[in-house]
Amino acid sequence: MHHMTLAEIARGLADKKFSSVELTQTLLARIAELDPKINSFISLTQDLALSQAKAADERRANGESGALLGAPIAHKDLFCTQGIRTSCGSKMLDNFKAPYDATVVAKLAAAGAVTLGKTNMDEFAMGSANESSWYGAVKNPWNLEHVPGGSSGGSAAAVAARLLPAATATDTGGSIRQPAAFTNLTGLKPTYGRVSRWGMIAYASSLDQGGPLARTAEDCAILLQGMAGFDPNDSTSIDEPVPDYSVGLTGSLQGLRIGVPKEYFSAGLDPRIAELIHNSIKELEKLGAVIKEISLPNMQHAIPAYYVIAPAEASSNLSRFDGVRFGYRCQNPENLEDLYKRSRGEGFGSEVQRRIMVGAYALSAGYYDAYYLKAQKIRRLVKNDFMSAFNEVDIILGPTTPNPAWKLGAKSSDPVAAYLEDVYTITANLAGLPGLSMPAGFVDGLPVGVQLLAPYFQEGRLLNVAHQYQLNTDWHTRTPTGF
Ligand code: GLN
Repeated sequence: MHHMTLAEIARGLADKKFSSVELTQTLLARIAELDPKINSFISLTQDLALSQAKAADERRANGESGALLGAPIAHKDLFCTQGIRTSCGSKMLDNFKAPYDATVVAKLAAAGAVTLGKTNMDEFAMGSANESSWYGAVKNPWNLEHVPGGSSGGSAAAVAARLLPAATATDTGGSIRQPAAFTNLTGLKPTYGRVSRWGMIAYASSLDQGGPLARTAEDCAILLQGMAGFDPNDSTSIDEPVPDYSVGLTGSLQGLRIGVPKEYFSAGLDPRIAELIHNSIKELEKLGAVIKEISLPNMQHAIPAYYVIAPAEASSNLSRFDGVRFGYRCQNPENLEDLYKRSRGEGFGSEVQRRIMVGAYALSAGYYDAYYLKAQKIRRLVKNDFMSAFNEVDIILGPTTPNPAWKLGAKSSDPVAAYLEDVYTITANLAGLPGLSMPAGFVDGLPVGVQLLAPYFQEGRLLNVAHQYQLNTDWHTRTPTGF
């Protein structure tokens, strides 16, 4: 049962081949057996899952239907879940039980999804390896000595290991697409504003966006359908109708104009990944797509700009975790200043502290113009590059990451080395564009992802291109041994 996709589960439940309760029990047993190998969960919610599964079975018995009704999922542990620990991968929030559900959580629960638990993540979603969680590193099911990518590494590893068919995740600079690439999944970062951020603990508010991680584009369409939509509680959520993403998976690729940025194939890209990306281009050409070389000239400035803007916003967002208003409080503080200092010093891990310091510095009087303002100007240039590219092409294609998943610990002593791995993903966040990563092959037994980017609100186009590709390739069906 654990090999089924969301689409297969929906058919099985509709045909009464099994119940949601049976499926939930099977997957909970599988998690108990296999998760110790990969550490993909921070909390399991067995009781909630079984009661949601029972309720979903009853709704089906009463004639209701729906692709998510009775479907088991998990939430990245930065989506608030009422009465359930919502830790953000941090000691700071280890004892935080959210008093309400995030909009994404509430919407998926209303659609009948069953929450198996909360998945592991880099602390406050800062990272590309899932090694900065207070709950320990997550391991890549394809090779347990390698990282699964981050920050949504728990969601990715759990889905890749067939512990469940799909999970929610968030992407501030690549945290859906990069772990998808590293674990052979399909992951979609929607347009900024497509999915509500209400109840999603903020890292960098102008970049954060929730989205689905699953094995296929078809499943991403199902999960995104349950997540997307206007939310009056989120002032940046956009009041645009949500198309039926599953119905949209039928379009022909004949004449689809695919732009391939020449900057994506410069030094730094593993040549074996370049070859796999070229193979995926040929495959799409066979399906009728037309390839055009394009240029995104300001891409080289994106990493420095992102690593000013994201920490700047983080330093502001994380100021509320001070041991008084929110979060961990140190033992026996001597005075108020000691309480602040030690609560934050003991509650936050070193990567989070580094980002807070960088961000506070960049925002301070005297440096603001030199760093933050300049970074915002680069952000506009990056966006303008995309706008002119999309005058000529329908989607942009390239690698998701320059290298496959690295060994655990390989980059822990050099944060900048890890930041550089985000080179292909962060531009979409700076511009607010939707992006998808899908499986494109393997290098040394480790999965490789190809990234597709589209104009604003064209998630449907990305999903359709990925679905047509997946109908003609089988990379996404490969399973890691031992799982
Ligand atoms: N690796 C990037 C960072 O550390 C992106 C993380 C994310 O998308 N949440 O900021």
